[in-house]
Amino acid sequence: MGRLASCFLDSLAAMQLPAIGYGLRYQYGIFDQEIWNGIQIERPDCWLLNPNPWEFRRDGLSRHVAFRGSIPPSEDPMHHFLALENYEEVRSIAYDYPIIGFPAQDRSFSVVTMRLWSTKESPRNFALQRYNAGELGQAGENTSLTDVLYPNDHHAAGKRIRLKQEFLLVSASLQDIVERHFSRGGGLDTFADKVRIQINDTHPALVIPELIRLLMIKGASLDHAFAITKTSASYTNHTILKEALEEWNEERMMDLLPRQYRMIQHINMQFCKEVRASFGENTEKAQAMSIIGEGQIKMAHLLLYGTHKINGVAKLHGTILKEEVFNDFFQLYPDKFCHVTNGVSHRKWLLQANPLLADFITERIGSSWIHDFSQIIELKRFAKCPKAKSAFAAIKKKNKQRLIQWLREKSPIRDGKGAVIGTIDPLGEEALFDIQVKRIHEYKRQMLNLLHAARLYLDIKKERKSPPIKRMILIAGKAAPGYQLAKEIIHFARILSHKINNDPEVNQHLRLAFIESYNVSKTLFLIPAADLSSQISLVGREASGTGNMKMAMNGALTIGTEDGANEEMRWAVGDEYWPFRFGMNVEEVQAKKTSGYSPSAIYQNNPIIREVLDFMVSDALTDHPAEKQCMEHLRKNLLEGEVESAPDPYYNLQDFSAFYETQKRVEMLYQDQDKWNEYAIMQIASMGFFTSDRSIQEYVDHIWDTKACPIDPDVLQKLQRDISPANKPHGPI
Ligand SMILES: *Cc1c(COP(=O)(O)O)cnc(C)c1O
Repeated sequence: MGRLASCFLDSLAAMQLPAIGYGLRYQYGIFDQEIWNGIQIERPDCWLLNPNPWEFRRDGLSRHVAFRGSIPPSEDPMHHFLALENYEEVRSIAYDYPIIGFPAQDRSFSVVTMRLWSTKESPRNFALQRYNAGELGQAGENTSLTDVLYPNDHHAAGKRIRLKQEFLLVSASLQDIVERHFSRGGGLDTFADKVRIQINDTHPALVIPELIRLLMIKGASLDHAFAITKTSASYTNHTILKEALEEWNEERMMDLLPRQYRMIQHINMQFCKEVRASFGENTEKAQAMSIIGEGQIKMAHLLLYGTHKINGVAKLHGTILKEEVFNDFFQLYPDKFCHVTNGVSHRKWLLQANPLLADFITERIGSSWIHDFSQIIELKRFAKCPKAKSAFAAIKKKNKQRLIQWLREKSPIRDGKGAVIGTIDPLGEEALFDIQVKRIHEYKRQMLNLLHAARLYLDIKKERKSPPIKRMILIAGKAAPGYQLAKEIIHFARILSHKINNDPEVNQHLRLAFIESYNVSKTLFLIPAADLSSQISLVGREASGTGNMKMAMNGALTIGTEDGANEEMRWAVGDEYWPFRFGMNVEEVQAKKTSGYSPSAIYQNNPIIREVLDFMVSDALTDHPAEKQCMEHLRKNLLEGEVESAPDPYYNLQDFSAFYETQKRVEMLYQDQDKWNEYAIMQIASMGFFTSDRSIQEYVDHIWDTKACPIDPDVLQKLQRDISPANKPHGPI
């Protein structure tokens, strides 16, 4: 989500749209990952150690945010939403980062601001009285509010500090937005016309009660303030995984944010009235849809009622929101629902990440694709051109060599104490580079990839002959620190890679590597070198995916399920050039769910799978007790399940055979390099739709109704004169 927001800021700036991106200035961002003898170790990422010349501290833009306190008794019910006494005040300071838009063809360009809040630099946030009373931890709580990012991916944190962070972001940013509007002569009557607030997942859901409160302070009635809020705000949903949908405990909300809690109660009463008016006295419906229920506040429900538009991030995801996850809400407010398929910045992921390929494209179709990525379709003319194909092959080879060198020099393998005992030694560039890089999660099914790698290993051992192609499997990604099973999947990857890479009968044909600490810098080595992009999530779970788009833009072929944006990529590329689709579709998963899924029956009946599952726990893989325990647990998860969960909840075994057969077709096509390169060029040429420029244009057209706002050339010229060294009385700075 953070990377997606970065691509969106890049596009907003390049398209000269008026926008600000708000966030928190964490001292420690997502952790750095080290793998100590197969175990993930989290290390702090100290990205602020060195001064950042692009960061501008704005002391004039300090905002005060109130937590806790009590609501004084009053006859006027409106006071319950506004008045507060004995509260904690937290001061946040803004840091601005200019996001410089790629220049337009007339060389004009625009700059968008990313504004991040920090509570670190306000000494008054330190609660000296608490410190003196010996409450050392609590004394620094507000000073350290923006210290650490919660690294959970697709899993809600449910922590008090997290709620404080979310409200800090919301309140400081909304105060900023409201003050800017009013200080420039705007009023309540123009707010809804002038201001659009895109709520990125449920984390800033408190925008709804807080914006109502701030507008009431400006003189709006509650109903008017709510109407303005609904018109200004819209909500992007990023996931349907239940464990990721945020809910906050009522008592916690009441304690930390008493006024916002009362406002949510009020909103919920109004909402339940609307539900009853539409569905009659259907109490089951009202209970299911209620914003507050069983002591929990459902943040997605608050947003579904409190905004005018909710969007999914791919077509399939939008459909699932309407037909399944939020079907009740869809029946009530059908016009609120839409989807905007995600995109990625082709300037970041092609022009910057792969300069050789960018030149290859420009030499053939000119440079207008950089401004208008729909032009990339012109490249189709070269898909069957022998010269273009061999030029493309040479570029892919260079990118693979660059990755190989980087792996040999920079990708450590560590022992159980963290000491570097070697580096990854990959196969040469003639091998198929089969890449799966993304956060580690059961739904993304790195497990399926590993089961396949184990199967290839057994095949080579059994047949004692060379497989049709050489294959270098690369996996990378971080696991949420508390997500035990994800960490065990990483452990499995390292156990298996140790086996495969050290077996002289196998390691000339097949190698497997798990690369430490996947992040954006590393994508720049990995993505341009990919031949095969693994996008193998269980259908219905990956809302969109963006790694799929990045790799296809760089000429990788996708092996993928019919999930997220994969399907839209297939429509763009065309079935003929999308040969590696596999696995159950949404209906088949649904049918399996109802008819009952038995992975142990698959194990009994299918020797291909049985051998792999038995290999997992055999001494042939490992005889180390801790490693064996990990493998036994993973196998148990697939065949028997846990106390609270069914066996193989992500259907790895169900989809295995289709995956294995499809990988055989990958091997066939890869043997025909000429054909493979034709397919690869077709992928690049078909990615025009998947630029974030197009996504942003759809937000403009369907949700925001905003206009580009280019810089006035006269104003710019005057500015340039003013800052030119010649006009400085003391000469150049
Ligand atoms: C694009 C990107 C992702 C998202 O990848 P998916 O395959 O869509 O999950 C994750 N991490 C980094 C560093 C990325 O650049």
